[in-house]
Amino acid sequence: MPEIVRGRYAPSPTGTLHMGNLRTALLAWLFARSVSGEFILRIEDLDQPRMKPHATKQMIQDLQWLGLDWDEGPEGGPYAPYIQSERLEIYQNYLQQLQAAGLVYPCYCSRAEIQQAAAHLPPGIDGGARYPGTCRQLSDKQRRQYERQGRHPALRLRVADELTITFTDLLLGSQQQQVQQAVGDFILRRADGIFAYQLAVVVDDALMHLNQIVRGADLLSSTARQIVLYQLLGFPIPTFAHVPLIHNSQGQKLSKRIQSEGLVPLQVSNYTAAEVVGLLAHSCGLRDTPTEITAAQLADHYRQQPVTLLCDQLRTGSCT
Ligand code: GLU
Ligand code: ZN
Repeated sequence: MPEIVRGRYAPSPTGTLHMGNLRTALLAWLFARSVSGEFILRIEDLDQPRMKPHATKQMIQDLQWLGLDWDEGPEGGPYAPYIQSERLEIYQNYLQQLQAAGLVYPCYCSRAEIQQAAAHLPPGIDGGARYPGTCRQLSDKQRRQYERQGRHPALRLRVADELTITFTDLLLGSQQQQVQQAVGDFILRRADGIFAYQLAVVVDDALMHLNQIVRGADLLSSTARQIVLYQLLGFPIPTFAHVPLIHNSQGQKLSKRIQSEGLVPLQVSNYTAAEVVGLLAHSCGLRDTPTEITAAQLADHYRQQPVTLLCDQLRTGSCT
């Protein structure tokens, strides 16, 4: 019997969900529900200083208002808790597993020092500086020196020099990344003690048995790093679909105001959820017209179609 699809939406409560976030949520939900799969909501609130009070509650209300539902989430489920700030011990355990394998080292560099050290190197992915490996071979003496200066280290994963990760994105096709060239040894725990997104997301997606990761295309460049961690931790690798973001400059199908603000202005103007879902579905090429349709109707529609239709339409439809 084929494995049941388990998908998720994993927002960070840093503010209001804007239309781009809501479209990603709708698509992630649709990818799961259109094949009668399960859907999970996880709250990614590790970076506590960036979190806004009440944002989680508001996000949940907005998703529910749109007609999206989930089988497991902050309310509970078999792999609870689904709130990252309540899972720190779990991340610590997996970090220790990597440490025990000799794959982790402390890095005392400041951001400015990394930029300086990488200045003569080609830039990494997304234009950022790749970590040039400064602290890879620090002696115990050098480490003690840094510690005496009161520096707190970040913890980095030692990435094999020649490691190239390939995977097939359901929408974007074959992808390849040489991880050292793209980012270098990457951070698992920041100097301020906060676990890195890359580690937490892999541990959670694996422990929650998620096998289908649908998220915004801004995270495409992270996927190779995550696959490195899946492999090192011995977890099965899920399928990935990175969906288009809403770009302000070319968003003809959704007005500027609608894009950048959340649901509130639409609700104030008496839009119904079906009208908003219709707009979102139209904006990414799933529907020819922006006419109203509920999320449930949209899922029903795709359940009766070949499973590839959703991907095909997203790939070929003019997405704004
Ligand atoms: N929490 C991340 C964000 O809000 C998404 C993580 C993911 O989907 O992998 O951007
Ligand atoms: Zn360093």
